[in-house]
Amino acid sequence: MTPPPPKKNALGLGFLNGSSSVQIWRSRLSWRIAGAVFMTILLVQIAILTLTIKQEEMKLLSEIREVGRSAIAPVLDNPSGILESPMSQIKANRLVSSTIVNGLTIYSPDLLLLGSYGEPLTITLTSQESLSKTYRSVDGGSYEVVYRPNDLRRPFIIVARLNSETVSGHIIDYVRQTILIVLLLSAFVTTVLMITLGYWLLEPLLFMRSNLKIAQQNPENPKIPENPYEEDDEIGGTIEMAQKLIRTNAENMQQVRSAAEDKIHKLAYYDQLTGLPNRTLFIQKLTENAFTSSEDTNTRQFAVITLDLDHFKDINDSMGHNVGDAILRGVGKRLKSALPKEAVVARAGEDEFAVTMELSDETGPARDIGDKVADIIRSEPFKVYNESFQVRSSVGVATYPKDGTDPSDVLKNADIALNRAKEEGRDRIREYSEDFDKAVQIRFQLLRDLRDALENEDLTVYYQPQFNLHNGDLIGAEALIRWWKKDNSKDGGSFVSPADFIPIAEQSGLIVPIGAWVLKEACRTAQTWHEAGKNIRIAVNVSGEQFYQSDLVSYTEEVLKKTGVEPKLLEMEITESVFMDDITIALDTLTRLHQLGVELAIDDFGTGYSSLSYLRQFSIDRLKIDQSFIRNALNNADDAAIAKTIIRLGHSLNLKVIAEGVETKDHEKFLSDEGCDEVQGFRYAKPMPDHEFWEFVQNYNGDLSSFDG
Ligand code: C2E
Ligand code: MG
Ligand code: MG
Repeated sequence: MTPPPPKKNALGLGFLNGSSSVQIWRSRLSWRIAGAVFMTILLVQIAILTLTIKQEEMKLLSEIREVGRSAIAPVLDNPSGILESPMSQIKANRLVSSTIVNGLTIYSPDLLLLGSYGEPLTITLTSQESLSKTYRSVDGGSYEVVYRPNDLRRPFIIVARLNSETVSGHIIDYVRQTILIVLLLSAFVTTVLMITLGYWLLEPLLFMRSNLKIAQQNPENPKIPENPYEEDDEIGGTIEMAQKLIRTNAENMQQVRSAAEDKIHKLAYYDQLTGLPNRTLFIQKLTENAFTSSEDTNTRQFAVITLDLDHFKDINDSMGHNVGDAILRGVGKRLKSALPKEAVVARAGEDEFAVTMELSDETGPARDIGDKVADIIRSEPFKVYNESFQVRSSVGVATYPKDGTDPSDVLKNADIALNRAKEEGRDRIREYSEDFDKAVQIRFQLLRDLRDALENEDLTVYYQPQFNLHNGDLIGAEALIRWWKKDNSKDGGSFVSPADFIPIAEQSGLIVPIGAWVLKEACRTAQTWHEAGKNIRIAVNVSGEQFYQSDLVSYTEEVLKKTGVEPKLLEMEITESVFMDDITIALDTLTRLHQLGVELAIDDFGTGYSSLSYLRQFSIDRLKIDQSFIRNALNNADDAAIAKTIIRLGHSLNLKVIAEGVETKDHEKFLSDEGCDEVQGFRYAKPMPDHEFWEFVQNYNGDLSSFDG
């Protein structure tokens, strides 16, 4: 609310109330103006005084002249002769001693000196012109005047010296009085001026200043009072303009802010690419739904579906982000148009979407909505730049409030179900179950235990031999990590499969220190074999995380130096997924590793993205056919064809080809017939501790057929 303008008193002098009356006496401006006026009045009065002081003196002197005349005229006698003085010496003495007349000279009309009495005079009459003379002594005590026959009504001319001491006193009094009046007048005028200045100038100025201050403190929402001053004077007009300016500024700022807020809201709550709500807004909407349904929780239920596009990354990487973006937009659009209006569709992550809608008899259970969502995506390919892309999705389903009363928990559970669907091979739907949660808990526990194992040195490295298939030479060993997890069983513990803990280590980043440890350990072992007289190439698995999170090249160089292993005795096995993350970094790192002299192999070849283009770009030495193809080669024509193709492809690129998972003589024969170069598998040996491996090396006679039977 706008505060009311300052109230005015009966005189209309609002500033006399409260602080503004104090302000006026503190106002420098008022004091300056009043001071200037005060000085002006003073100067004018002084000027007037100097002009009037002469008149006043003249007036006083003429009064004295009159007094002198009245004293002289009565004592004049009628002389008998024309040249005789009309005043006896006795009368003259009395006159001089008892009146203001101190001396006099008497002349005949013809200016003949008739007599002279008392003090001598300065004026002597010599001509008619000298009759108009007056004389004032320097100290102002005497004043000489000429009385003519007309003044005296007698035929004489008298020059009298009169005592004029009183005139100076009178003049001083006059000046004093005048100055006092001037001061009082000036003070009065100043006061009146201050008051009027306060009313017409200071009060409006202070009003404007206070409003400007309010506007400065809160420019966007200034609570300024209405302008109480007439707009038709300069000050009122100025205040009105300032008021308008403050309000316009506030309006502008409000507009700018609300636009910015809108924008921030959009950025914070909406996905820019698809225009769909993001995860945060999705949870908010879910919360709103849950909140409004709280009165009736028994009957209102919501499906929460999360959906992840399968192999979206591959599309993005191979076809470019434009295509990926277009598909994401298409998915959003399709979901929105195919689902009922009330359904909330959000983009919950890079290639993850989330849907929530209320369940009813018509919709069926959440699972049905999950099916529908998967069908919407699968129903027909997405068309981008005239190309068709068949997109499939993994779907996680959860129900509110069955799977959590907190909306973000329900979403989290849908995500857990989604992860399960992905783990189980994608392109499928999984409904949340509490068992999933337990599985997650178990994973967390496993991660904690793995950390401890790394610290407590419960990890070891096993070695599995690799052979030259053409001549039977033992040429290398794959280093495979082993975790002996202690427990209370009668064996005192059990091995945890790398397949179980490596993915967890990768997700948590723990693979980086683990991988570093394995590399060092394997190199150390290879060097002991070398020193004992056997050059056995050691193959170490390097996971994608390790590739991007640590400075693999300089670390490898350091390990080679420290252990003294010849670089060509170290091979690094990477999987195809490494190439997918960032082709530039991958290319650079592989090139630098190769420059160290380290050999490079692609592990599990054929299961990944299998883009042949990178094979030519990267400096690779070896392809390692995934064991699934070898296992099935003999009873599945497709797998056999793949294995054969890989061997041919490898050779066409001048690469060695090694097969892993060789379990039987038939496997070996198949590979040998196809010209595969190297083999590794249970047919020859399982992975074993270093001392066992060394024994194995010692005992091996160089003939692969020794493993028959
Ligand atoms: P991989 O690199 O493909 O290793 C080969 C796996 O196949 C090993 O499993 C090995 O024991 C197994 N194997 C070898 N020959 C045969 C066979 O004839 N038949 C069958 N059924 N299996 C055979 P393992 O040791 O359980 O390792 C599993 C995976 O864990 C490895 O697959 C590798 O991806 C990963 N891994 C193991 N050690 C490390 C490591 O130190 N660092 C990283 N990053 N990953 C590792
Ligand atoms: Mg491997
Ligand atoms: Mg492998």
